[in-house]
Amino acid sequence: MTGGPAVRRLVDWEASDLRTLAAEHGTPLYVVDLDRVAENLDRLRAAFPDAHIHYAAKANAGRAVLERLEREGSGVECASAGEVVRALEAGFDGDDVLYTPVNPPARDLDTVVDRAAENPGLTVTAGARETIDRLETRGYDGRLAIRAHPGIGAGHGESVATGGDASFGIPAEAVPTVLEDAADRGFDVVGVHAHTGSGLSNEDRSAHRSVVEALAEVVAETAVDLEFVDVGGGFGVPYRPEEPPLDLEPIAEATRDALAHLDVDLAIEPGRYLVADAGVLLATVNTVKPAGDAGTFAGVDAGMTTLLRPALYDSYHHIRTLAADAADRDEATVTVVGPVCESTDVLGADRALPEPRRGDVLAIGNAGAYGIEMSNQYTSRPRPAVVALEGGDDRVVRGRETISDLTTKERR
Ligand SMILES: *Cc1c(COP(=O)(O)O)cnc(C)c1O
Repeated sequence: MTGGPAVRRLVDWEASDLRTLAAEHGTPLYVVDLDRVAENLDRLRAAFPDAHIHYAAKANAGRAVLERLEREGSGVECASAGEVVRALEAGFDGDDVLYTPVNPPARDLDTVVDRAAENPGLTVTAGARETIDRLETRGYDGRLAIRAHPGIGAGHGESVATGGDASFGIPAEAVPTVLEDAADRGFDVVGVHAHTGSGLSNEDRSAHRSVVEALAEVVAETAVDLEFVDVGGGFGVPYRPEEPPLDLEPIAEATRDALAHLDVDLAIEPGRYLVADAGVLLATVNTVKPAGDAGTFAGVDAGMTTLLRPALYDSYHHIRTLAADAADRDEATVTVVGPVCESTDVLGADRALPEPRRGDVLAIGNAGAYGIEMSNQYTSRPRPAVVALEGGDDRVVRGRETISDLTTKERR
Protein backbone atom coordinates (compact mmCIF):
# COMPACT_ATOMS: atom_id res chain seq x y z
CA MET A 1 0.00 0.00 0.00
CA THR A 2 1.25 3.45 -0.80
CA GLY A 3 2.26 5.51 2.18
CA GLY A 4 2.75 2.71 4.68
CA PRO A 5 0.52 2.26 7.72
CA ALA A 6 -1.96 5.03 8.61
CA VAL A 7 -0.09 5.68 11.80
CA ARG A 8 3.22 4.72 13.33
CA ARG A 9 2.73 4.14 17.04
CA LEU A 10 5.43 4.57 19.65
CA VAL A 11 5.44 0.79 20.16
CA ASP A 12 6.33 0.31 16.46
CA TRP A 13 9.79 1.82 16.93
CA GLU A 14 12.54 -0.76 17.50
CA ALA A 15 13.66 -0.36 21.12
CA SER A 16 17.17 -1.65 20.60
CA ASP A 17 17.79 0.74 17.67
CA LEU A 18 16.66 3.68 19.77
CA ARG A 19 18.81 2.57 22.73
CA THR A 20 21.79 2.41 20.38
CA LEU A 21 21.14 5.95 19.13
CA ALA A 22 20.82 7.21 22.70
CA ALA A 23 24.10 5.53 23.65
CA GLU A 24 25.86 6.88 20.58
CA HIS A 25 24.63 10.48 20.66
CA GLY A 26 23.54 11.04 24.24
CA THR A 27 20.19 12.36 25.40
CA PRO A 28 17.98 14.28 25.20
CA LEU A 29 17.91 13.40 21.52
CA TYR A 30 15.34 13.93 18.81
CA VAL A 31 15.14 11.18 16.20
CA VAL A 32 13.36 11.92 12.93
CA ASP A 33 12.70 9.23 10.33
CA LEU A 34 12.71 10.96 6.96
CA ASP A 35 11.40 7.87 5.18
CA ARG A 36 8.31 7.98 7.38
CA VAL A 37 7.88 11.68 6.50
CA ALA A 38 7.83 10.62 2.83
CA GLU A 39 5.27 7.89 3.59
CA ASN A 40 3.01 10.39 5.30
CA LEU A 41 3.24 12.64 2.24
CA ASP A 42 2.38 9.69 -0.01
CA ARG A 43 -0.77 8.92 2.01
CA LEU A 44 -1.95 12.51 1.82
CA ARG A 45 -1.24 12.52 -1.91
CA ALA A 46 -3.30 9.37 -2.34
CA ALA A 47 -6.24 11.02 -0.55
CA PHE A 48 -5.85 14.39 -2.29
CA PRO A 49 -4.47 13.40 -5.70
CA ASP A 50 -5.09 16.77 -7.34
CA ALA A 51 -4.06 19.03 -4.48
CA HIS A 52 -0.93 21.11 -4.26
CA ILE A 53 0.61 20.08 -0.95
CA HIS A 54 2.51 22.76 0.93
CA TYR A 55 4.25 21.48 4.05
CA ALA A 56 3.72 23.87 6.98
CA ALA A 57 7.34 24.39 7.94
CA LYS A 58 6.61 25.56 11.45
CA ALA A 59 5.98 21.95 12.51
CA ASN A 60 9.65 21.16 11.91
CA ALA A 61 11.84 23.46 9.82
CA GLY A 62 14.97 21.37 10.10
CA ARG A 63 17.01 21.44 6.91
CA ALA A 64 16.94 17.64 6.54
CA VAL A 65 13.13 17.57 6.76
CA LEU A 66 12.76 20.45 4.29
CA GLU A 67 15.22 18.93 1.84
CA ARG A 68 13.54 15.53 1.90
CA LEU A 69 10.09 17.03 1.35
CA GLU A 70 11.43 19.20 -1.46
CA ARG A 71 12.91 16.09 -3.10
CA GLU A 72 9.57 14.34 -2.72
CA GLY A 73 7.94 17.16 -4.68
CA SER A 74 6.14 18.94 -1.84
CA GLY A 75 5.73 22.69 -1.67
CA VAL A 76 6.15 24.62 1.56
CA GLU A 77 4.07 27.02 3.66
CA CYS A 78 6.04 29.51 5.71
CA ALA A 79 4.88 31.50 8.71
CA SER A 80 7.84 33.85 8.94
CA ALA A 81 10.67 35.37 6.92
CA GLY A 82 13.00 32.96 8.66
CA GLU A 83 11.04 30.01 7.34
CA VAL A 84 10.96 31.51 3.83
CA VAL A 85 14.75 31.90 3.84
CA ARG A 86 15.29 28.41 5.27
CA ALA A 87 12.92 26.91 2.69
CA LEU A 88 14.66 28.63 -0.23
CA GLU A 89 18.06 27.59 1.15
CA ALA A 90 16.83 24.02 1.43
CA GLY A 91 16.19 24.11 -2.31
CA PHE A 92 12.50 24.91 -2.67
CA ASP A 93 11.67 26.73 -5.85
CA GLY A 94 10.05 30.13 -5.24
CA ASP A 95 6.99 28.86 -7.12
CA ASP A 96 6.45 26.29 -4.39
CA VAL A 97 6.67 28.72 -1.47
CA LEU A 98 3.66 30.23 0.27
CA TYR A 99 4.22 32.87 2.91
CA THR A 100 1.25 33.07 5.28
CA PRO A 101 2.15 35.52 8.02
CA VAL A 102 0.06 36.63 10.96
CA ASN A 103 0.69 40.28 11.87
CA PRO A 104 4.08 40.21 10.14
CA PRO A 105 6.85 42.29 11.71
CA ALA A 106 8.29 44.97 9.38
CA ARG A 107 11.61 43.17 9.17
CA ASP A 108 9.84 40.00 7.98
CA LEU A 109 8.00 41.86 5.21
CA ASP A 110 11.21 43.58 4.10
CA THR A 111 13.01 40.25 3.83
CA VAL A 112 10.19 38.43 2.05
CA VAL A 113 9.60 41.25 -0.44
CA ASP A 114 13.34 41.14 -1.23
CA ARG A 115 13.24 37.38 -1.71
CA ALA A 116 10.08 37.60 -3.80
CA ALA A 117 11.89 39.95 -6.20
CA GLU A 118 14.31 37.09 -6.95
CA ASN A 119 11.55 34.46 -6.76
CA PRO A 120 8.49 35.98 -8.45
CA GLY A 121 6.56 32.70 -8.11
CA LEU A 122 6.37 33.11 -4.36
CA THR A 123 2.88 33.76 -3.00
CA VAL A 124 2.12 36.03 -0.05
CA THR A 125 -1.10 35.42 1.85
CA ALA A 126 -2.38 38.51 3.65
CA GLY A 127 -4.61 38.09 6.67
CA ALA A 128 -5.40 41.77 7.23
CA ARG A 129 -6.14 44.75 5.00
CA GLU A 130 -3.17 46.55 6.51
CA THR A 131 -0.84 43.76 5.42
CA ILE A 132 -1.86 44.55 1.82
CA ASP A 133 -1.11 48.24 2.41
CA ARG A 134 2.25 47.39 3.93
CA LEU A 135 3.14 45.18 0.95
CA GLU A 136 2.15 47.95 -1.46
CA THR A 137 4.28 50.47 0.44
CA ARG A 138 7.24 48.16 -0.10
CA GLY A 139 6.62 48.03 -3.84
CA TYR A 140 5.31 44.46 -3.82
CA ASP A 141 2.84 43.73 -6.61
CA GLY A 142 3.39 39.98 -6.91
CA ARG A 143 1.24 36.97 -6.20
CA LEU A 144 -1.22 37.62 -3.41
CA ALA A 145 -3.77 35.44 -1.66
CA ILE A 146 -6.18 36.51 1.06
CA ARG A 147 -6.69 34.63 4.29
CA ALA A 148 -10.37 34.43 5.13
CA HIS A 149 -11.69 34.07 8.60
CA PRO A 150 -14.79 31.93 8.20
CA GLY A 151 -15.92 32.22 11.80
CA ILE A 152 -15.61 28.49 12.36
CA GLY A 153 -12.81 26.72 14.15
CA ALA A 154 -12.04 23.11 14.83
CA GLY A 155 -9.25 21.32 16.57
CA HIS A 156 -8.05 19.94 19.85
CA GLY A 157 -8.69 22.76 22.28
CA GLU A 158 -9.20 26.50 22.33
CA SER A 159 -5.60 27.51 21.88
CA VAL A 160 -5.07 25.66 18.61
CA ALA A 161 -8.46 26.19 16.97
CA THR A 162 -7.71 29.15 14.76
CA GLY A 163 -10.37 29.19 12.05
CA GLY A 164 -12.80 30.85 14.43
CA ASP A 165 -10.28 33.30 15.80
CA ALA A 166 -10.68 36.80 14.37
CA SER A 167 -6.98 37.46 14.83
CA PHE A 168 -6.32 35.26 11.77
CA GLY A 169 -7.73 36.49 8.49
CA ILE A 170 -10.35 38.83 7.12
CA PRO A 171 -14.05 38.02 7.74
CA ALA A 172 -15.16 35.83 4.82
CA GLU A 173 -18.02 38.18 3.86
CA ALA A 174 -15.54 40.98 3.18
CA VAL A 175 -13.02 38.90 1.25
CA PRO A 176 -14.59 39.07 -2.26
CA THR A 177 -14.30 42.87 -2.19
CA VAL A 178 -10.83 42.81 -0.67
CA LEU A 179 -9.69 40.54 -3.51
CA GLU A 180 -11.16 42.92 -6.12
CA ASP A 181 -9.63 45.93 -4.46
CA ALA A 182 -6.20 44.26 -4.37
CA ALA A 183 -6.49 43.33 -8.05
CA ASP A 184 -7.37 46.97 -8.87
CA ARG A 185 -4.28 48.06 -7.01
CA GLY A 186 -2.10 45.93 -9.28
CA PHE A 187 -1.45 42.82 -7.22
CA ASP A 188 -1.49 39.46 -8.97
CA VAL A 189 -4.41 38.11 -6.94
CA VAL A 190 -4.32 34.32 -7.06
CA GLY A 191 -6.15 32.68 -4.19
CA VAL A 192 -8.08 32.47 -0.96
CA HIS A 193 -6.95 30.68 2.14
CA ALA A 194 -8.29 29.52 5.48
CA HIS A 195 -6.83 27.30 8.16
CA THR A 196 -9.49 25.62 10.27
CA GLY A 197 -7.23 24.89 13.20
CA SER A 198 -4.85 22.18 14.26
CA GLY A 199 -5.56 18.63 15.31
CA LEU A 200 -8.58 17.98 13.09
CA SER A 201 -10.07 14.67 14.13
CA ASN A 202 -12.70 12.43 12.55
CA GLU A 203 -15.30 14.38 14.53
CA ASP A 204 -14.29 17.74 13.05
CA ARG A 205 -15.25 16.86 9.48
CA SER A 206 -18.32 19.04 9.37
CA ALA A 207 -16.42 22.07 10.69
CA HIS A 208 -13.79 21.50 8.03
CA ARG A 209 -16.48 21.20 5.39
CA SER A 210 -18.06 24.48 6.50
CA VAL A 211 -14.73 26.24 6.15
CA VAL A 212 -14.24 24.90 2.63
CA GLU A 213 -17.80 25.92 1.75
CA ALA A 214 -17.15 29.43 3.07
CA LEU A 215 -14.09 29.62 0.80
CA ALA A 216 -16.07 28.29 -2.15
CA GLU A 217 -18.60 31.05 -1.59
CA VAL A 218 -15.84 33.65 -1.69
CA VAL A 219 -14.60 32.25 -5.00
CA ALA A 220 -18.11 32.29 -6.44
CA GLU A 221 -18.79 35.84 -5.30
CA THR A 222 -15.62 37.66 -6.23
CA ALA A 223 -15.09 39.12 -9.68
CA VAL A 224 -11.42 38.09 -9.56
CA ASP A 225 -10.48 34.95 -11.44
CA LEU A 226 -8.68 32.89 -8.80
CA GLU A 227 -6.14 30.16 -9.35
CA PHE A 228 -6.46 28.26 -6.05
CA VAL A 229 -8.32 27.67 -2.82
CA ASP A 230 -6.07 26.80 0.08
CA VAL A 231 -7.89 25.00 2.87
CA GLY A 232 -4.94 25.07 5.26
CA GLY A 233 -3.59 22.23 7.35
CA GLY A 234 -4.63 20.84 10.67
CA PHE A 235 -4.87 17.15 9.76
CA GLY A 236 -4.65 15.50 13.16
CA VAL A 237 -2.65 12.53 14.35
CA PRO A 238 -3.51 10.18 17.22
CA TYR A 239 -1.39 11.08 20.23
CA ARG A 240 -2.92 8.42 22.47
CA PRO A 241 -2.37 4.72 21.77
CA GLU A 242 -6.10 3.94 21.75
CA GLU A 243 -7.01 6.84 19.42
CA PRO A 244 -7.80 5.86 15.82
CA PRO A 245 -5.91 7.53 13.00
CA LEU A 246 -7.58 10.30 11.04
CA ASP A 247 -9.63 8.96 8.17
CA LEU A 248 -8.46 11.14 5.28
CA GLU A 249 -10.96 9.88 2.72
CA PRO A 250 -14.15 11.55 4.04
CA ILE A 251 -12.30 14.84 4.59
CA ALA A 252 -10.90 14.72 1.08
CA GLU A 253 -14.31 13.88 -0.30
CA ALA A 254 -16.04 16.70 1.59
CA THR A 255 -13.37 19.08 0.30
CA ARG A 256 -13.80 17.90 -3.29
CA ASP A 257 -17.60 18.15 -3.03
CA ALA A 258 -17.52 21.68 -1.68
CA LEU A 259 -15.26 22.81 -4.55
CA ALA A 260 -16.65 20.61 -7.34
CA HIS A 261 -18.57 23.40 -9.09
CA LEU A 262 -15.56 25.72 -9.23
CA ASP A 263 -12.66 25.86 -11.65
CA VAL A 264 -9.91 26.34 -9.07
CA ASP A 265 -6.98 24.29 -7.84
CA LEU A 266 -6.95 22.94 -4.31
CA ALA A 267 -4.03 23.52 -1.97
CA ILE A 268 -3.50 22.01 1.47
CA GLU A 269 -0.93 22.84 4.15
CA PRO A 270 -0.26 19.87 6.39
CA GLY A 271 2.34 20.31 9.11
CA ARG A 272 1.79 17.89 11.95
CA TYR A 273 0.44 15.10 9.74
CA LEU A 274 3.69 14.83 7.80
CA VAL A 275 6.16 14.82 10.66
CA ALA A 276 4.53 14.01 14.04
CA ASP A 277 4.78 10.22 14.01
CA ALA A 278 8.10 10.37 12.19
CA GLY A 279 9.77 11.62 15.36
CA VAL A 280 10.53 10.48 18.87
CA LEU A 281 12.34 12.18 21.71
CA LEU A 282 14.74 10.09 23.79
CA ALA A 283 15.46 11.02 27.40
CA THR A 284 17.39 9.36 30.22
CA VAL A 285 16.08 8.88 33.75
CA ASN A 286 18.41 10.57 36.22
CA THR A 287 16.34 10.58 39.43
CA VAL A 288 13.72 8.16 40.72
CA LYS A 289 11.65 9.44 43.59
CA PRO A 290 8.92 7.43 45.32
CA ALA A 291 6.05 9.78 46.19
CA GLY A 292 3.60 7.64 48.15
CA ASP A 293 0.05 7.98 46.84
CA ALA A 294 1.34 10.13 44.00
CA GLY A 295 3.23 7.13 42.62
CA THR A 296 6.77 7.51 41.41
CA PHE A 297 8.47 10.52 39.91
CA ALA A 298 10.98 9.84 37.18
CA GLY A 299 13.21 12.84 36.59
CA VAL A 300 14.62 12.87 33.06
CA ASP A 301 17.09 15.01 31.13
CA ALA A 302 14.38 16.39 28.79
CA GLY A 303 11.63 18.72 29.88
CA MET A 304 9.55 21.72 28.90
CA THR A 305 12.55 23.31 27.23
CA THR A 306 13.03 20.24 25.03
CA LEU A 307 9.36 19.47 24.30
CA LEU A 308 7.10 22.37 25.16
CA ARG A 309 3.69 21.02 24.09
CA PRO A 310 2.69 19.35 27.36
CA ALA A 311 3.46 22.54 29.32
CA LEU A 312 1.99 24.89 26.72
CA TYR A 313 -1.16 23.04 25.65
CA ASP A 314 -1.45 20.29 28.25
CA SER A 315 -0.84 17.91 25.34
CA TYR A 316 -0.56 14.19 25.77
CA HIS A 317 2.54 12.46 24.41
CA HIS A 318 2.80 8.73 24.89
CA ILE A 319 5.85 7.53 26.82
CA ARG A 320 7.53 4.16 26.70
CA THR A 321 10.53 2.75 28.49
CA LEU A 322 13.25 1.30 26.29
CA ALA A 323 14.89 -0.68 29.13
CA ALA A 324 15.75 -4.16 27.83
CA ASP A 325 14.40 -5.85 30.96
CA ALA A 326 11.20 -3.79 31.11
CA ALA A 327 9.00 -6.87 30.80
CA ASP A 328 10.43 -8.28 34.06
CA ARG A 329 9.64 -5.24 36.12
CA ASP A 330 6.56 -4.42 38.20
CA GLU A 331 4.30 -1.75 36.86
CA ALA A 332 4.20 1.61 38.61
CA THR A 333 2.28 4.86 38.29
CA VAL A 334 4.95 7.17 36.97
CA THR A 335 5.02 10.91 36.45
CA VAL A 336 7.83 11.89 34.09
CA VAL A 337 9.27 15.28 34.96
CA GLY A 338 12.02 17.48 33.57
CA PRO A 339 14.84 19.43 35.18
CA VAL A 340 13.09 22.80 35.43
CA CYS A 341 11.71 24.15 38.70
CA GLU A 342 8.24 24.82 37.30
CA SER A 343 5.09 22.88 38.08
CA THR A 344 4.43 22.71 34.32
CA ASP A 345 7.65 20.80 33.67
CA VAL A 346 5.83 17.48 33.33
CA LEU A 347 6.15 15.39 30.17
CA GLY A 348 3.56 12.86 31.28
CA ALA A 349 1.56 12.43 34.49
CA ASP A 350 0.40 9.18 36.11
CA ARG A 351 1.52 6.82 33.39
CA ALA A 352 1.40 3.09 33.87
CA LEU A 353 5.02 2.16 33.16
CA PRO A 354 7.49 -0.50 34.27
CA GLU A 355 9.19 0.72 37.46
CA PRO A 356 11.74 3.27 36.31
CA ARG A 357 15.42 3.01 37.22
CA ARG A 358 18.17 5.54 36.93
CA GLY A 359 19.81 5.20 33.52
CA ASP A 360 16.71 3.97 31.72
CA VAL A 361 16.08 5.55 28.36
CA LEU A 362 12.50 6.65 27.74
CA ALA A 363 10.98 7.34 24.34
CA ILE A 364 8.38 10.08 23.98
CA GLY A 365 6.15 9.63 20.97
CA ASN A 366 4.86 11.88 18.20
CA ALA A 367 7.67 14.31 18.85
CA GLY A 368 8.37 15.04 15.20
CA ALA A 369 5.96 17.97 15.02
CA TYR A 370 6.36 21.10 17.12
CA GLY A 371 9.11 19.37 19.12
CA ILE A 372 12.60 20.63 18.24
CA GLU A 373 10.89 23.61 16.64
CA MET A 374 9.44 24.85 19.94
CA SER A 375 12.47 23.89 22.02
CA ASN A 376 14.13 26.74 23.84
CA GLN A 377 16.98 27.63 26.14
CA TYR A 378 15.04 28.53 29.28
CA THR A 379 17.16 27.90 32.40
CA SER A 380 20.24 28.12 30.19
CA ARG A 381 19.72 24.67 28.81
CA PRO A 382 21.27 24.01 25.39
CA ARG A 383 18.90 22.58 22.82
CA PRO A 384 19.22 18.87 22.01
CA ALA A 385 20.72 17.20 18.96
CA VAL A 386 18.65 15.76 16.12
CA VAL A 387 19.46 12.48 14.36
CA ALA A 388 17.79 11.68 11.05
CA LEU A 389 17.09 8.16 9.79
CA GLU A 390 17.03 7.69 6.04
CA GLY A 391 17.46 4.62 3.85
CA GLY A 392 18.69 2.51 6.75
CA ASP A 393 21.37 5.01 7.82
CA ASP A 394 21.42 7.56 10.61
CA ARG A 395 23.19 10.89 10.73
CA VAL A 396 23.28 13.92 13.02
CA VAL A 397 21.42 16.72 11.24
CA ARG A 398 21.57 19.19 14.09
CA GLY A 399 24.37 19.14 16.61
CA ARG A 400 23.72 19.38 20.31
CA GLU A 401 24.05 22.97 21.50
CA THR A 402 26.72 23.64 24.08
CA ILE A 403 26.70 26.00 27.03
CA SER A 404 28.87 28.44 25.07
CA ASP A 405 26.17 28.56 22.36
CA LEU A 406 23.90 30.15 24.95
CA THR A 407 25.98 33.32 25.12
CA THR A 408 27.21 33.81 21.56
CA LYS A 409 25.12 36.96 21.17
CA GLU A 410 25.87 38.47 24.57
CA ARG A 411 27.87 41.69 24.72
CA ARG A 412 29.50 43.31 27.73
C1 LIG B 1 0.12 25.92 11.64
C2 LIG B 1 -0.43 26.09 10.31
C3 LIG B 1 -0.56 25.01 9.44
C4 LIG B 1 -0.22 23.60 9.83
O1 LIG B 1 -0.99 23.13 10.90
P1 LIG B 1 -0.86 21.59 11.28
O2 LIG B 1 -1.82 21.41 12.39
O3 LIG B 1 0.54 21.37 11.74
O4 LIG B 1 -1.19 20.80 10.08
C5 LIG B 1 -1.03 25.24 8.16
N1 LIG B 1 -1.37 26.50 7.75
C6 LIG B 1 -1.26 27.56 8.57
C7 LIG B 1 -1.63 28.89 8.07
C8 LIG B 1 -0.81 27.40 9.87
O5 LIG B 1 -0.72 28.46 10.67
